[in-house]
Amino acid sequence: MPGMASAHSHAFQRALRGRTQSRNANKLTAAGNFWSWRDQMFQLVAELTPDDVLAISRFAFVELAMCGVTAVGEFHYVHHDVGGKPYANRLVMSEAVIEAAAEAGIRLSLIRTGYYRAGYGQTLHEGQKRFCDDATEQTLRDVQALTALTVGKTDHFRVAIAAHSIRACQQQQYLDLSAYAKQHHLPFHMHVSEQQREVDECVAEYGKRPVELLADDGVLDARFVAIHATHLLPHESALMGRANAIACICRTTERDLGDGLPVAADLAQAGVRFCVGADSHAASDAFEEVRAIELDERARHERRIVAAQGEALLAAATTHGYAAIGYADMLGQDQVYLRADDPSIADAMIGSRAETVTDAVVFGANARAVDRVIVGGKMIVDGGRHIHYDAALASYLACLKRLS
Ligand SMILES: [Zn+2]
Repeated sequence: MPGMASAHSHAFQRALRGRTQSRNANKLTAAGNFWSWRDQMFQLVAELTPDDVLAISRFAFVELAMCGVTAVGEFHYVHHDVGGKPYANRLVMSEAVIEAAAEAGIRLSLIRTGYYRAGYGQTLHEGQKRFCDDATEQTLRDVQALTALTVGKTDHFRVAIAAHSIRACQQQQYLDLSAYAKQHHLPFHMHVSEQQREVDECVAEYGKRPVELLADDGVLDARFVAIHATHLLPHESALMGRANAIACICRTTERDLGDGLPVAADLAQAGVRFCVGADSHAASDAFEEVRAIELDERARHERRIVAAQGEALLAAATTHGYAAIGYADMLGQDQVYLRADDPSIADAMIGSRAETVTDAVVFGANARAVDRVIVGGKMIVDGGRHIHYDAALASYLACLKRLS
């Protein structure tokens, strides 16, 4: 099968896996939510060094490769030193991610993210200061400097742009970033309507819902990728479809964070293309990410085959994922071979016929089915194991020990 894209990743959040699931860990007396999880994420961010980002990202990418991912879109927003002071080399955090992907052998789209405020009428949390540029000029200067680094490496390393979200950017700020992306034909990503609270804040600030606002502003187009696109009304799905925009669904994270359930059937009906992302790396399973688009809609509708069938889901993981992160031209260069020869491992394929094998893989496979992964002619996973797994694991564990 073709290689899969994980179009939305925050690789450093891999270090949170398993550490945010109890009330004790959250210091909560009642139920938690996205915002209490975010406080824990900010605590991790407060400690991270560029070396930590390298070690965590490298291991996260190695894990993704072992489940058939050959290209990743890293929505990168931890830019600056503690307190928000830029490093002497402003790109040092980006360079850590770039090195991590290069060592893992997967294609990287470094999605340089603009982040400028806590939210409408809110003060910045200490942890958020490391995300923030003072102005879009700085963000775009970094985009240009990063683009210069891609020279001679564009097969494996490309640059895209994101505005973190409507809550983290004022209108003129996301418009500046969007205009630059359009001018340079770059993918433009944005978290959209992940939480109901974001929708409410957007309505309070602008009198419009997020997708209405972005449509009126001319931001939506075929290179626009709405991350999550969860709390959409039917006319917002239609606006996304009319613009030929992409929705990046990240179900394992959205479930983990209690985000809600995207209206996948509405979006599909409106002609919106899907892609998927490991997002917080709550799990590393590209097959689960993609089938969950359909399976979670089944749970809501109490019906079957409601949003997307096997071929469409496979396209979400491959064709649309590659397009979403600016690698449409590289799709045919990367291959994933499943273990069809070992029935004890390739259990998803047992009993499937040639005409149903796509469905068997999309709805039944997991990382155990992945045998070899080849990116641009180079084998990075052999016998289900990444060629640098042991080294990546050792430095990841050493990093976790350093972090409190
Ligand atoms: Zn995200």
